Amino acid sequence: MRHQGFRAQVPPALGRSSSVSCAVAPVAAAPVAALADAGAMAATDIARQVGEGCRTVPLAGHVGFDSLPDQLVNKSVSQGFCFNILCVGETGLGKSTLMDTLFNTKFEGEPATHTQPGVQLQSNTYDLQESNVRLKLTIVSTVGFGDQINKEDSYKPIVEFIDAQFGAYLQEELKIRRVLHTYHDSRIHVCLYFIAPTGHSLKSLDLVTMKKLDSKVNIIPIIAKADAISKSELTKFKIKITSELVSNGVQIYQFPTDDESVAEINGTMNAHLPFAVIGSTEELKIGNKMMRARQYPWGTVQVENEAHCDFVKLQETYEAKRNEFLGELQKKEEEMRQMFVQRVKEKEAELKEAEKELHEKFDRLKKLHQDEKKKLEDKKKSLDDEVNAFKQRKTAAELLQSQGSQAGGSQTLKRDKEKKN
Ligand code: GDP
Repeated sequence: MRHQGFRAQVPPALGRSSSVSCAVAPVAAAPVAALADAGAMAATDIARQVGEGCRTVPLAGHVGFDSLPDQLVNKSVSQGFCFNILCVGETGLGKSTLMDTLFNTKFEGEPATHTQPGVQLQSNTYDLQESNVRLKLTIVSTVGFGDQINKEDSYKPIVEFIDAQFGAYLQEELKIRRVLHTYHDSRIHVCLYFIAPTGHSLKSLDLVTMKKLDSKVNIIPIIAKADAISKSELTKFKIKITSELVSNGVQIYQFPTDDESVAEINGTMNAHLPFAVIGSTEELKIGNKMMRARQYPWGTVQVENEAHCDFVKLQETYEAKRNEFLGELQKKEEEMRQMFVQRVKEKEAELKEAEKELHEKFDRLKKLHQDEKKKLEDKKKSLDDEVNAFKQRKTAAELLQSQGSQAGGSQTLKRDKEKKN
């Protein structure tokens, strides 16, 4: 059930691209590519019809169905991505400061009261933009965590919150009309668990809470305010924490090492866990550069100096996740492009098949028509022959009749003459 972090919510809208209407014309089917030309021709015709006085709008760029995947990716990029961080740790461990340091901004949030009888979860969503990529960042803080005398149930509201987000997503997924591309996914991608820099061991509250959360979220343990602990103590503290986590069966996030290209770097990241971090939004001039640091009477601690703390490692984790996310997006874009090309090919093949069938039908009908025509011609010929024969017979009969009547007439005259005589 562990939610594996960043997942691009790219709408499978290309599924609909098959509905590019390519109606098979009754006379001849045109291949899909011709549709674009047809569109262009239609536009020219309209332009010709509207005449000179009309305003024409020039095209801003290439128009064609091959640009559909780009349009979808641009839409996803402009819609932005969400990343939800859950910060768990006792009050005053520097959670807010670290978030401000990590995202190099000052997150405005409602001031939390720490006099509540239990733990409250406070969720704040911020819209951030880096180059053209928009990020909807949600930071969930555990107000009052560790403030109570009886800390037995401190983990419960956190578990309930995480489950509620899974539930809300499931509800959206189960809807008949799902709108997951606009749905604000509030499931937690990562849980930063802040450990107090005691130098001793994990508190039972930490172990219990992490154990309850490890099957639901990716936990990245963090030793907060790492400047409060000496270098040698820090090394020992890290070893102690790791062994306690292992002996209590607490599963923390492990950077994947199965991919060879990142195996080495991720192995180093895993070796650095839990990250020891220092947070500060204050910028100090160190040498010629302005750096985020904490100034003490005895010296300066630099947040982004790897010799001072693991902040850079934590930042790299975020960067790596973001790159993984963009890589996934590119992969999806390529898949979409391939799928689109495949669909177009299929549609073209379908149209060609329909065209072939039409041709065959046309040939069949043509042959039928020719046969029919020949039959009719034969019939006409035989009828003509019959008519001619009839005419001949009629003429012969008329001739005979007239000859007969002439012969009859002369005999009557002869008889009349004889009578007179
Ligand atoms: P939160 O209650 O966990 O959100 O803690 P805050 O971020 O409000 O920090 C509490 C105090 O700890 C503030 O005075 C911070 O300046 C200080 N603080 C934050 N990060 C560090 C750190 O890395 N080292 C030290 N020494 N102090 C810190």
